[in-house]
Amino acid sequence: MNEPTPVESLDPSRRLPLSFTERRRGRAPRHLADLPAPERTRLVAEAGLPAFRADQLSRHYFTRFTRDPDAMTDLPAADRHRLADLLLPSLATEVRTLTADRGATLKTLWELFDGSRVESVLMAYPGRNTVCISSEVGCGMACPFCATGQMGLTRNLSTAEIVEQVRLAAAACDSGALTGEPSRLTNVVFMGMGEPMANYAAVIGAVRRLVEPPPAGFGLSARNIVVSTVGLVPQIDRLAAEGIPVTLAVSLHAPDDELRDDLIPINSRWKVGELLDAARRYFEATGRRVSIEYALIRDINDQQWRAQRLADELNLRGRGWAHVNPIPLNPTPGSMWTASERHVEATFVDTLMRAGITTTVRDTRGSDIDGACGQLAAQALTGGKR
Ligand code: SAH
Repeated sequence: MNEPTPVESLDPSRRLPLSFTERRRGRAPRHLADLPAPERTRLVAEAGLPAFRADQLSRHYFTRFTRDPDAMTDLPAADRHRLADLLLPSLATEVRTLTADRGATLKTLWELFDGSRVESVLMAYPGRNTVCISSEVGCGMACPFCATGQMGLTRNLSTAEIVEQVRLAAAACDSGALTGEPSRLTNVVFMGMGEPMANYAAVIGAVRRLVEPPPAGFGLSARNIVVSTVGLVPQIDRLAAEGIPVTLAVSLHAPDDELRDDLIPINSRWKVGELLDAARRYFEATGRRVSIEYALIRDINDQQWRAQRLADELNLRGRGWAHVNPIPLNPTPGSMWTASERHVEATFVDTLMRAGITTTVRDTRGSDIDGACGQLAAQALTGGKR
């Protein structure tokens, strides 16, 4: 039986202008956020425009969160469109946005230049706004409890495609779309689709744009950025050496290799001990306390002895260098697994705390809008309690 062609794929207005080469290579069009500021200046000069226009254009993007040439009234009308065409191509089109938590959570599905789709989630908290962004289309890590893990990897995102999710979130805060009044985006967590460490070059490029002050980037504080990983050990060491002290989150989910081999397939390559050693080195290098993520899955990894084992593994490597974020599992469609019972969760947390481990149960924002991955709230990572 023939499936009808989806209407939106027939609508030419949905097509983004693309050169033949870009389409063939499957590469996102060049964008100023891909480039360090001097490189932007060089391209603008090469195009025969005054070099300082590169900084003006960058300020529009990174401080006013716009790519609309008509809003750039400090640029000569004749140059605005040429500059935007040169360095501000369209990278993401909104497909739909869902609202949860009485408007405090906005989850948006974006369509990229090649029709790929990724999600980002914007969350308002007292005193801060956090966006959870994707680093890849799908994910190659195949963790059985994770919705994205079931999709497989389609492709990596470019630096600018990652940064663009942040720019759009900042624009939503700025316009009052998030809280009803203008606010600022303060926090970014790499906890959406994808494994950031498997797309290292693009992710570190994006991290640079996030922390560099305008006009080079947004000027966010490194401590308000969280990079979450299943545990690609060499990349953890690489990140530690970058000199940008972002917060590292390690998706551990089991303190023993026997279980972790099943929950996180890459554990067959880097074992729990090697991973925790790398996490500890990250703390040494950056002074940033590492977050240990632990999705509590009923009768799978929530036994008290595993809480004790986790505490022992952490304490073995020193005191105060890590804190644990238990996350109630957000069941994915078709999975037999579900969240731990409340009293089991309480015992798990209590066991960690008695062993001297700081522990904060993560809230699960947006679960009513199919958060699916369960990572939708980075509340605990940035100081809050549920
Ligand atoms: N690939 C990275 C970042 C994306 S996932 C990583 O794994 O760290 C962000 C967090 O959500 C991870 O800790 C991940 O293990 C967790 N997660 C994934 N699926 C989940 C689910 N169904 N319920 C709860 N947490 C989940």
